[in-house]
Amino acid sequence: MPEGDALHRAARRLQPLVGQRLEVEAPNPRAQATQVAPRIDGRVLESVEAVGKNLLLRFEGGLVVRSHLRMTGRWRVEPRGKARTGLPWLVLRGETLEGVLWNGPVLTLEARNLQRLGPDVLADEFDLDGAVPRLRGAGERRLGEALQDQRLVAGIGNMWMAEALWSIRVSPWTRVRDAEDGVLRDAVAAARRLMQDALASGRQGRQVYRRAGRPCRRCGAIVRSRGQGDGNRTAYWCPECQAGGTPPGE
Ligand SMILES: [Zn+2]
Repeated sequence: MPEGDALHRAARRLQPLVGQRLEVEAPNPRAQATQVAPRIDGRVLESVEAVGKNLLLRFEGGLVVRSHLRMTGRWRVEPRGKARTGLPWLVLRGETLEGVLWNGPVLTLEARNLQRLGPDVLADEFDLDGAVPRLRGAGERRLGEALQDQRLVAGIGNMWMAEALWSIRVSPWTRVRDAEDGVLRDAVAAARRLMQDALASGRQGRQVYRRAGRPCRRCGAIVRSRGQGDGNRTAYWCPECQAGGTPPGE
């Protein structure tokens, strides 16, 4: 599942196209409906960056294409003119390479709206202490849900939430209002560190995510899972060694 680190890798792969004037096509009919391709065709790509769970492609003239990959989207970079079967969402054709977006379910053109995202947890200048008051904005919600609220801190998805909280032995069911500042800070710091490690190594070491029903790798208790928050995304946690809260009704 694409998360913040996958977006950063995609941004890196697309860097060779930056500075080039691109021919742009949208072979997939659903992508054609977005009207993005004709607006950016023939423009110079000025930058590509991952911001939270969005890939932002800035083109000359102040146009910004936002690509959110959801569960299925993939950006690939291939030699120009390579034969392919299927209908990619977007083909960005440079001098020798093509950036190809497959199954990109969210593709929009925009120039505003982006300030609503919180600071990117993977940014070099990310302010860890500043993340604590931002997370307090979660109010009554549980920590597992708050960490995935992209308006508070951008980039942490379901998997890294689970792994980060397991690593610091804190339950995703902890209420943010009950958590001390140090816990909130540690949670974000752990997510950032694990995501940075995954970026550097190209591997995602999973300790708890999708391990429901199996023994905790730290204490041997059985890992649990349960839908959490408005999005009902599945939280994974060890009920023995992760303290601070239990699901509603328990
Ligand atoms: Zn455990």
